[in-house]
Amino acid sequence: MKLRVLVSTLMVCIAPLAARAADQGPKPTKAMPSPGTTGADVDLSAIDPTVNICQNFYEHACGGFIKSVALTPSRPEVSLMGQKSDDNLTAGLNKLFAIKAAPNSELQRLETFYGSCLHDSASSADLVKAWIGRIDAAKTSEDFQTLIRSLGAIGVDPFFAYSGAPDPNDLGKYRGEIDDNGLWQDPAVVERAFRLAGIPGAQAKADAEAVTAIIVELRKSRTTGDDLKAYENPTTLAKLTADAPAINWRAYFAMVGAAPLRPINATSKTYLPAVSHELTTRRPAELRAYLRWTFLFSLRGELPPPYNQAFGDITPPLRVAIDQPDKRCQDATLRGMGVEFSRQYSQRILGLRARQIATEIGASIQTEIANAVDEATWLSPAARQATADKLRKTDLKMGFPDQWPAVGHFPLRPNAFLENVLQARRYEEKRAWRRANEPRYRKNWDMMVYPWVGIGMAAARLTTPNAFPDPDTNSMIMTAAFLNAPLFDPTASTEANYGIFGAVFAHEFVHIAEEHEYDAIGRQREIWSAADIASASKQHQCVIDQADASPAPPGSHVSGAHNYSENLADLGAVRLTYKALATKLGPRLNQADTTGMTPAKRFFYRYAQYYCTAATPETLKHLVEDDPHGLPSYRVNGPLSNLPAFSDTFGCLPGAPMRRPADQICRVW
Ligand SMILES: [Zn+2]
Repeated sequence: MKLRVLVSTLMVCIAPLAARAADQGPKPTKAMPSPGTTGADVDLSAIDPTVNICQNFYEHACGGFIKSVALTPSRPEVSLMGQKSDDNLTAGLNKLFAIKAAPNSELQRLETFYGSCLHDSASSADLVKAWIGRIDAAKTSEDFQTLIRSLGAIGVDPFFAYSGAPDPNDLGKYRGEIDDNGLWQDPAVVERAFRLAGIPGAQAKADAEAVTAIIVELRKSRTTGDDLKAYENPTTLAKLTADAPAINWRAYFAMVGAAPLRPINATSKTYLPAVSHELTTRRPAELRAYLRWTFLFSLRGELPPPYNQAFGDITPPLRVAIDQPDKRCQDATLRGMGVEFSRQYSQRILGLRARQIATEIGASIQTEIANAVDEATWLSPAARQATADKLRKTDLKMGFPDQWPAVGHFPLRPNAFLENVLQARRYEEKRAWRRANEPRYRKNWDMMVYPWVGIGMAAARLTTPNAFPDPDTNSMIMTAAFLNAPLFDPTASTEANYGIFGAVFAHEFVHIAEEHEYDAIGRQREIWSAADIASASKQHQCVIDQADASPAPPGSHVSGAHNYSENLADLGAVRLTYKALATKLGPRLNQADTTGMTPAKRFFYRYAQYYCTAATPETLKHLVEDDPHGLPSYRVNGPLSNLPAFSDTFGCLPGAPMRRPADQICRVW
């Protein structure tokens, strides 16, 4: 899928916390006790005082928590902050749903939608049966074309999706874009989904094999990788018809909005011809199986039992929380009525004060990072100027917007959940199609983002904790839910907020500094010369070498080259956030309270405790192999051992592992 730029930065940056929150399985009966009411302070109970700070700060700050967690096969990884964040967020959302709202008001419509999910009726199962019946009745190519459009209208998009996407040749406008639909499959899950849908065993197996074969084939022809140019394939109605003749493009464009007024781009040169080939060469039974699967998979979070049972234990970001009805229905409400949900949560629960304080913190770090670029003498003056200019002009989209996208007024019925979902999806699809011909404003919050809960407009995904740098608008979005305890709290100390919220914000900003293929207004334009790029890779080598030499779980080896981009962001983030905090607090930074805690110490503890994670050795091994981030322990000890302010704060002596010798310190940003 396209928007890989966003995926590679945001899914990996923040999603681990969100994904962990979603992946924790049943909650422990008692949450860890924490000081303060919201937990936005150092968690003293998570500390292991027997570990020396200067030897291993991660083990010191997190060891108590790690020892207290009983890991199980269904709960192989638990994060301290993920757990607390999830609990506090759920409490906030429950508070929202407990407000008595006026009839037909936005909140009341939300409550109807959410309630219809919690108290779903047999009508939803009937609706699934009716759709599967329609799919299983398809015989002719005409039937399949009609189905592709009908499924497209409810956002299932069996082979491809059409929507408005930023036009790199005209920043003030969107253009039409045709992308693949994600193409996920696992033969065992497909077969199980078919059996649960009432398909007899032998046929379910054969159908699952057909689905797998089609998806494996289609995946070969879609665009992947980092080369943005490969995603640029301008096309027209006539060219689409010639390239992929098995698709009735005329009828498709009649549905999505007349002959397109704006240019159309296909994200792959070969993908649509491959779809056309599948449509002409596969037997009708195979195509029916494929359409049935895309219907079930696309609606997995919204399906009633028994259909949803197929998706209770699949890969965590795609998994449906079937044993946590509140969570499942919150997610479904966010997907279905995201703008309404985000607005009501932001305005009634979060409020303006949190947004104002978060914006002040963000702006102070933004200034610090831009100043650091001015000092990056390894870049040419021109590259420094263009990069610093871009960072100073990055638009901070903090918490929630003042102007919200339009919302639909489609009818909603209690106890008819799937019907409500399909109404909401029809509305969203029409918005996506219409967008292709609309103007585009940098200030809007309507860019597509990819939190684990599902793709959607940024303004419609604000009740899940996340941070999204968007290179196409040169913006930085922190969601309303991220401005929530324990990650952030307007009543917490300044240093507690810098320690987590500030450091995450800064991490994303370092990614923005490194994204030299985009300029200050979001144009795809190289702002570094070849010599600058070569000089940057020399700087990166220090970060790569340090990670290569870092500890790994038994049987694995950390690849510094694989992790350098994230390690680089961590390294710059903690240094620059600390610097911004020091500017803000002045001499107060090192003044101890009656317990001996100073703001500087609290900052470092908070920074470390964001990463406190109890995990099985196999999980850690997986993280080393798959995750572009460093291990939780390395994300703490790596950057902090490169920061003299850390060893000064805790009095670490020369030779201590947390105090690298001056000539071995890495610094890029
Ligand atoms: Zn990152």
